Amino acid sequence: MLVSRKIYIKGIVQGVGFRPFVYGLAAKHHITGWVKNSSAGVEIMANGRETDVSAFTQDLQSQSPTLSKIDSVRIEEVDPVEYSGFEILQSESLPGEFIPVSPDMSICDDCLRELFDPKDRRYRYPFINCTNCGPRFTIIKDIPYDRPLTTMSDFKMCEPCREEYEDPLDRRFHAQPTACGECGPQIWFEDREGKKFYGESGLQMARQWIRNGKIIAVKGLGGFHLACDALNERSLETLRTRKKRSDKPFAVMVFDSTIAEAQAEVDPAERSLLESKEKPIVIVKRRSTSNIPASISPGVNTLGIMLPYTPLHYLLMEPEPGFPEVLVMTSGNLSEEPIAFSNSTALIELNQIADGFLFHDRAIETRVDDTVVTEVSGKRYFYRRSRGFAPDPVRLDMQLRPILAVGAELKNTFCLTRDNYAFLSHHIGDLQNLETLQAFETGIPHYENLFKIKPLAIACDFHPDYLSTQYANNRACQAELPLITVQHHHAHLASVMADNDLITNEPVIGVIFDGTGYGLDGNIWGGEFLFGGYAQVDRKFHLEYMPLPGGDSATLHPAKIAAAYLWKCGIEWAENTPPMGSFSPDQRSVLLSQLKTDLNCPKTSSMGRLFDAVASLIGLRHEVNYEAQAAIELENIINPEQEKSYHFEVEDMQVRIAPVLDGVLQDLQNKVSKPDIAAKFHNSIRLLVLEICDRISRETGCRTVALSGGVWQNKYLVSHSIKDLEELNYTVLTHHRVPANDGGIALGQALLANYQLNNQ
Ligand SMILES: [Zn+2]
Ligand SMILES: [Zn+2]
Repeated sequence: MLVSRKIYIKGIVQGVGFRPFVYGLAAKHHITGWVKNSSAGVEIMANGRETDVSAFTQDLQSQSPTLSKIDSVRIEEVDPVEYSGFEILQSESLPGEFIPVSPDMSICDDCLRELFDPKDRRYRYPFINCTNCGPRFTIIKDIPYDRPLTTMSDFKMCEPCREEYEDPLDRRFHAQPTACGECGPQIWFEDREGKKFYGESGLQMARQWIRNGKIIAVKGLGGFHLACDALNERSLETLRTRKKRSDKPFAVMVFDSTIAEAQAEVDPAERSLLESKEKPIVIVKRRSTSNIPASISPGVNTLGIMLPYTPLHYLLMEPEPGFPEVLVMTSGNLSEEPIAFSNSTALIELNQIADGFLFHDRAIETRVDDTVVTEVSGKRYFYRRSRGFAPDPVRLDMQLRPILAVGAELKNTFCLTRDNYAFLSHHIGDLQNLETLQAFETGIPHYENLFKIKPLAIACDFHPDYLSTQYANNRACQAELPLITVQHHHAHLASVMADNDLITNEPVIGVIFDGTGYGLDGNIWGGEFLFGGYAQVDRKFHLEYMPLPGGDSATLHPAKIAAAYLWKCGIEWAENTPPMGSFSPDQRSVLLSQLKTDLNCPKTSSMGRLFDAVASLIGLRHEVNYEAQAAIELENIINPEQEKSYHFEVEDMQVRIAPVLDGVLQDLQNKVSKPDIAAKFHNSIRLLVLEICDRISRETGCRTVALSGGVWQNKYLVSHSIKDLEELNYTVLTHHRVPANDGGIALGQALLANYQLNNQ
């Protein structure tokens, strides 16, 4: 029997080789008709025998191209029409419709083979790509995703490239960034004096300079990296000094996972993350035999490692006797600034850091940082979700209203929603930096335009001083839109619920641990046990309030925090305790009077600060040079064999800290080792989580626990707590699509706003 069916496909189906794939399938199944792109996705007219059309429809979904992601398929029976063959028709634009845009994707195996094949016409061409790989989001200026609307518009295709581009059976059919050495972007090496070396000689010059210990700024996919020989102690030192980055670990790049495995303990799950097509930075444990100097990541035994993801990286990293196997590939910026992504700004901003520049002339439209992940319980766990992932939406099993959620102030991402998509932006960064704030302000309209979203409401943090909140205020005022403020930890809870596709309003137990979030009572929250869902939330228990002398600035001085916590807990400032020894008598009396008079000492229930206090208390770190350094180092020294713990006391709604501090001090006196104390401290938090979840569960009957907030980036804590809770038959919700830290909070804000709008 002959049938005709119209098939509508939504998802990432453009710019990923979908139409040629459909074309090939049609031939295989003797289907006539056509396929075309529309601004809503892909439309197919399939005409043929009933069994053939069914098989065709099935293969469409089961064999779709690597980079495609089908979200929905709708099939419509239509009156049979005769077609002589199968055709690819012109795109059609439907007003207001949109389709998701593919993130940038690492070079595919086919292109990699051609890159190193001397007989291929793109042999050693640094911008080789096809419909299965290459730049996407970083080069898109507008939709529809067509070459004139990308930064490739400046390059006119040569004849051979155009033939491939127009051949439906070619791997490069409608690959918008396709190019070759004849017609596409070029690289060149430039020294500080402006002397230039083009093409292969430029590449070799850059390699020679790296080999000689120099620091090279390399333009990549989403911005610049600073590259140098990671095995050269002096290069590392120079880079640290010039970048003004004293301790924060540098990420490295190696040619393949064999080299990664020689330097680090890479388990199979980590290896598959490393080799995944998104090619994130994976945090792994450095081997004791690694020949990378310890100054790569001072104070920690982990290593942030990634594989090459662009053809240029492969050429740069190409193994050769005498060429370093491991390169530092750290973001091309001065400490705390956003990474440079245009040639002209790199020349200015990186001039004092880089000895030379490996440039190219394919412009980057949107700056996108590397993604950073680790593995928890065998699954990907984000620290930073950016390149390779954004702007791929978080898909939810519900319809969302058009909402803009502006996120937090640090590690900012924003989120726009429509249909069943939550478009969580790439990592924007710290909004207190002016350039980052500008990236935030231009990023939002860019997303709104790409995904055709006109927000009906704006959601922001309850913190009145966040720059994101101020933006939301202004925007809501100007556009006369409702502004929905959301408490920070409630947003974390909603974020982890949405991350797990929990979209009903069934309440859960939320264990939300982070550094700083503005509380409903005006205090700084961060050690919170919540019970609730999207509709509302109760604060059931929290760490008792401690003074934070100097407010936010105290986060740089764990010793101050430790002293303040001891004072508040009524524990004497003994001369021989490590934090006290780090103060001069003058500093000490200033601090004491500040605490006594309660001068600029906001109160905090932060779990992050408790980690700082303990790190200083045992003499591990009194000052930090980057965010969460003390907590990271405390986790790093844990003796995993140590199973003992201290214990918190719970009184009313509050978790008393004094018994834990007492326990730590006693162990110090008894010369218990720091690794043992660190383990016992972590274990006491595990026990606290169990105890309080148990209390809330007994009261409410709830058996689901959600873990969110920056403290849950602590791998020891999160993996053990998951196990602990699961052993007691709790269902545990953790993050796996967005970060547990503030980088995931915009998703929660959007969901909470959506709920409010639905229930007004
Ligand atoms: Zn490819
Ligand atoms: Zn060409």
